Amino acid sequence: MYQFSYVKAKSLKEAGEFLAAHPDAKLLAGGMTLIPTLKARLAQPSHLVDIGGLPELAGIELMDGKLAIGAATRHFEVAGSDTVKKAIPALAYLADLIGDPQVRNLGTIGGSVANNDPAADYPAAVLGLGASVITTQREIAADDYFQGMFATALDPREVIVRIVFPLPKRAAYAKFPHPASGYAMAGVFIAETAQGVRVAVTGAGPGVFRWQEAEAALATNMSAAALDGLAVSAEDLNEDIHATREYRANLVAVMARRAAAKIAEK
Ligand SMILES: Cc1cc2nc3c(=O)[nH]c(=O)nc-3n(C[C@H](O)[C@H](O)[C@H](O)COP(=O)(O)OP(=O)(O)OC[C@H]3O[C@@H](n4cnc5c(N)ncnc54)[C@H](O)[C@@H]3O)c2cc1C
Repeated sequence: MYQFSYVKAKSLKEAGEFLAAHPDAKLLAGGMTLIPTLKARLAQPSHLVDIGGLPELAGIELMDGKLAIGAATRHFEVAGSDTVKKAIPALAYLADLIGDPQVRNLGTIGGSVANNDPAADYPAAVLGLGASVITTQREIAADDYFQGMFATALDPREVIVRIVFPLPKRAAYAKFPHPASGYAMAGVFIAETAQGVRVAVTGAGPGVFRWQEAEAALATNMSAAALDGLAVSAEDLNEDIHATREYRANLVAVMARRAAAKIAEK
């Protein structure tokens, strides 16, 4: 680990000012991704600006028929929240599948969405539900936010404040987890929304993506059978020591059927 200074921000404003004055500073939320990155000497920030305990980034509430979750909300809080379980049960379910108890106790929704790991779970829910990412500067629609592997629309000085999820009519998530880390080898989030059916795939490709062919099929028939014969192209998927791209393509098809079957039961 390279040397850095630790700063505990007292407010969102102070965090923003600090970032503006120190171009090599980095935000620290749960540290579940950032600390291992520093340990591996893959980043060399001058300062870590701790925003994990800021009250402005806390809280889960229903506002105008939408579910707002503060960026510093930890995975276990989302998984255990009665508000989330009632409003979007699939989101609470997804949060409970993340990593292990240690990761869920420290990792935050804002950190996960900012990091945009291609195998992370939350990006599937944010894109699948057509959520908005609210930052210190603007509101970014999910369709514009995710820009490929670890890439987002955020500028380096921008802080995620909360994620706002429109309530779906029905939604479900199915994931095939990597047995060691829990990260998605493939995860599929399906939501029936006021604007139509949305299907978001994580874990399989270089970044979370929508599977439009499945959306069209499920729009007329919300069932696992509607996806028979459909498959994502393996060509654009990830291949690594854990799985070939053809195996991942098959996992996507299977997870999509499982999620569709779950929705059909509701
Ligand atoms: C063993 C292990 C298993 C895991 N398994 C899974 C899994 O199954 N599924 C899954 O989805 N994830 C998994 N994770 C990742 C985990 O969910 C992390 O918590 C998450 O990716 C990052 O959240 P964090 O709060 O720890 O962020 P940090 O590590 O503190 O920060 C991550 C990045 O986001 C930036 N950042 C943090 N907060 C903000 C903000 N509010 N605004 C702007 N930028 C911000 C930081 O500067 C940093 O660049 C796993 C991690 C580990 C270590």
